[in-house]
Amino acid sequence: MGFKENQALKFSTLLNLKNEGSTVYGEINEYHFSLNLIPYGNTQVWQLTMLLDKPLTADAQYNLKKIHKINVQYSALDITPTYQAVAYNIVLNLPMSKEKQVNYFNNLITTLTNTLEKEEIKNIDACGLCGIEKTDEEAEYTVYKGLYIKLHKSCAEAAYEEEKREIEKENANIKRLPISIVLAFIGAVVGIIPSVISMFGFGYLFALLFAICPIASFFGYKLGKAPLRWYATLIAAVCSLVITALVVIGFGALIAQAANATLADAFNDPELGLTGLLAKALLFDGLGILCSLGVISKIRSGKVSR
Ligand SMILES: [Zn+2]
Repeated sequence: MGFKENQALKFSTLLNLKNEGSTVYGEINEYHFSLNLIPYGNTQVWQLTMLLDKPLTADAQYNLKKIHKINVQYSALDITPTYQAVAYNIVLNLPMSKEKQVNYFNNLITTLTNTLEKEEIKNIDACGLCGIEKTDEEAEYTVYKGLYIKLHKSCAEAAYEEEKREIEKENANIKRLPISIVLAFIGAVVGIIPSVISMFGFGYLFALLFAICPIASFFGYKLGKAPLRWYATLIAAVCSLVITALVVIGFGALIAQAANATLADAFNDPELGLTGLLAKALLFDGLGILCSLGVISKIRSGKVSR
């Protein structure tokens, strides 16, 4: 069981709710809601989500804020043109003690659902995947991608099948890994060229140029069409760090040879600053590695983990 699943199990037990995977969910006063851990600064907080037909009035929202110190953030959830919902997102302001947490949540959800009722705000009855009514099948509440949402069983199954097919397709691409590794290496070699030109050609170094190396390496990996998993970044990182180190050491060797000194002497000479150069080069390598990591997380977000 992962960290989030473990937290969800504990939190659902504490609040007397249910959980599925890392999502806590429940129903109070006929309103359905889910709770998920979301990143918040350096920590993680619980966010309450409800799918309803319209937002609160300004007055009601002001009152909630005054009593419970919470902000309701709305996002439009239009999965299909026939499914329109307003998602209420509320970050919980949980007190430290477990006992107080239970009271806080129960008070909050009671006030919130009473307010919703008073404002005649309703749950969404349509299926969140197809948005239409089927004569032979009722849409039922189920946990799907962190939401407690009404879905047709057949629609949910079809969606999971599609996800599974996509993951299988990606897994089948794993045999392209050797090609991707070779291209990642070639990419790193190509990506170091601007740095080599600036160092050997002009005897001067723009540290930022080193960031090109891992990006070019990552691009090479992508060209090889192996899956874009975490190890894609690792491979690009290893290739670019090795190439960078080789180039800086080569540069040092050249200087050492010209001065009739050993390589170690060249690196130990504070005036030449080769050690600092190596450190700076590797640092900017790191910057490029972070860029390629950003690309991966962007591609992978929005995929279910089931
Ligand atoms: Zn459906």
